[in-house]
Amino acid sequence: MEGDLRRVLRMRELIPAMRDALACFSRGDVVQPVRPTLRIEPAGGYYSVMPAHIRDERGGALGMKSVTFFPSNAGGPHPTHLATVLLLDPATGSLVALLDGRLITEMRTAAVTAVSVDLLARKEARHLAILGSGVQARSHLEAVGLVRRLESVKVWSRTAAHAEDFARQMAGAVACRVETSASVRDAMRGAEIVVAVTAATEPITDAAWLEPGMHLCAVGSSAPDMRELDADTVARARVFVDSRRSAEAEAGDLLLARKEGRIGPDHVVAELGEVAAGAPGRRAADEITLFKSLGLAVEDVVTARLAVSRAMELGIGTSVTL
Ligand code: NDP
Repeated sequence: MEGDLRRVLRMRELIPAMRDALACFSRGDVVQPVRPTLRIEPAGGYYSVMPAHIRDERGGALGMKSVTFFPSNAGGPHPTHLATVLLLDPATGSLVALLDGRLITEMRTAAVTAVSVDLLARKEARHLAILGSGVQARSHLEAVGLVRRLESVKVWSRTAAHAEDFARQMAGAVACRVETSASVRDAMRGAEIVVAVTAATEPITDAAWLEPGMHLCAVGSSAPDMRELDADTVARARVFVDSRRSAEAEAGDLLLARKEGRIGPDHVVAELGEVAAGAPGRRAADEITLFKSLGLAVEDVVTARLAVSRAMELGIGTSVTL
């Protein structure tokens, strides 16, 4: 149950766990396909199945996430993203646990972004802009605040009232100002870290608003025909991804920039896991870096393993015999 997961998952523990999982992924110790995604009509939703097997020094992990994204759920009783994670024993294939995947998705995505900020943003970065005010915006504020000492946060959202709600609710969650911005341009002004967590399908940024040394995290789009960033922003940035293979199939931010002739096929510099393992990341204080997040099955499986291990220590959860 989600309440149980809230008791066992800690962002502070998840960030290093994601860093290790991404490093394993990039050195070839994870088996996972690029996720198949079904379009669900007439609801206009998406359904993805995400299996992964990781071989690591913690005994490995095996499992899969079933995840839906129904943008039309916004404002109703169901969240836009719903998920279930199945954790299996990598030695026998037997079922270990069935977990709610909504919170896992919310938290692991922000933890991965925090890994990118830790590895790629300037060490002295203090000013954060968040574009979007939904579920991911909230978890990202917490996660980024754990890897940089934030002094100010500006939030922009398509619906101004949602940005205001966000600023009001999050004011106590971080030890700094959380203010709203009337435009993306205003939010980005003076920001050293920019996190885009919207369901936008067309660019909401403009390369003219980039400032030297910015680190951008483009988290929202995960389909080849969706994007948050304009092509010139992508072209100006040194680009990192969670998975090169996934980026080739799903990263509309990059694929559409390439289609428009703004970047070439070699524009991606490295996977984040390669940087975690020592590959060069940021080379200069004024360089613009961009992490394009798509979300990997291994992130869900490793998060589920962490949750189950804590739950067993604390006696949390329900045992069932199928
Ligand atoms: P929510 O439904 O909670 O929030 C959606 C946000 O997107 C809201 O702030 C909404 O603004 C904004 N939005 C919706 N449509 C548009 C638009 N056309 N232009 C600009 N803003 C828009 O979703 P989540 O926070 O859970 O997810 C945010 C995005 O992140 C989604 O696209 C999702 O698919 C993606 N995601 C990526 C993951 C990854 O691993 N990379 C994992 C999970 C999610 P408002 O409410 O103000 O109208």
